[in-house]
Amino acid sequence: MKALEEKIKQDGEVLSGDVLKVDRFLNHQIDTDFMFSIGQEFAQKFQDEKITKILTIESSGIAPAVMTGLQLHVPVIFARKHKSLTLTDDLYTANVYSFTKQTENQITVSRKYIEPNDRVLIIDDFLANGQAVFGLLEIAKQAQIEVAGVGIVIEKSFQPGADKIKAQGIHLESLARIKSLTDGQVEFMPE
Ligand code: 5GP
Repeated sequence: MKALEEKIKQDGEVLSGDVLKVDRFLNHQIDTDFMFSIGQEFAQKFQDEKITKILTIESSGIAPAVMTGLQLHVPVIFARKHKSLTLTDDLYTANVYSFTKQTENQITVSRKYIEPNDRVLIIDDFLANGQAVFGLLEIAKQAQIEVAGVGIVIEKSFQPGADKIKAQGIHLESLARIKSLTDGQVEFMPE
């Protein structure tokens, strides 16, 4: 998505440890019009997939997931990273090692919101080593529901997550694919 590449070039900041900071439009301040167009792009890519729900992980996956849900007219479930006092139902859980925080979290989704015939689209902001996506895939597996695909706003293609997902035969769509972040410069994969 050319507009996303332009936005990353304009507002992105490369931090040490192969981390890209996009707090201006995605991870802290959210550019709502732009996020709406991200939702349109995902919806168009997955329009024939008969999706019934979107599954994401708090907090940065929520904005692109909601915008996509709005276009596809389906609900969005976000996995929680912290135990909530109000989340007392039966839960699906998976362990996820956080790339940016370097800690392990247990992610949880209430069984109540997943139905046997659900066909979910997994959405997240970034894809690095694939831990977050594999945690959500684990939850889908426990719930015995189908995964229609994975939509990622920014894939860091030089890290192993994308290849691991594709190796499982899963339909992966990433709107921007970064080849490298060497020397503070963002280099994109050729189209
Ligand atoms: P993974 O689980 O694929 O290793 O990493 C993806 C998760 O870590 C995403 O949910 C995202 O929140 C975070 N993440 C990974 N790499 C980056 C990055 O370069 N920048 C930001 N802002 N978040 C990242």
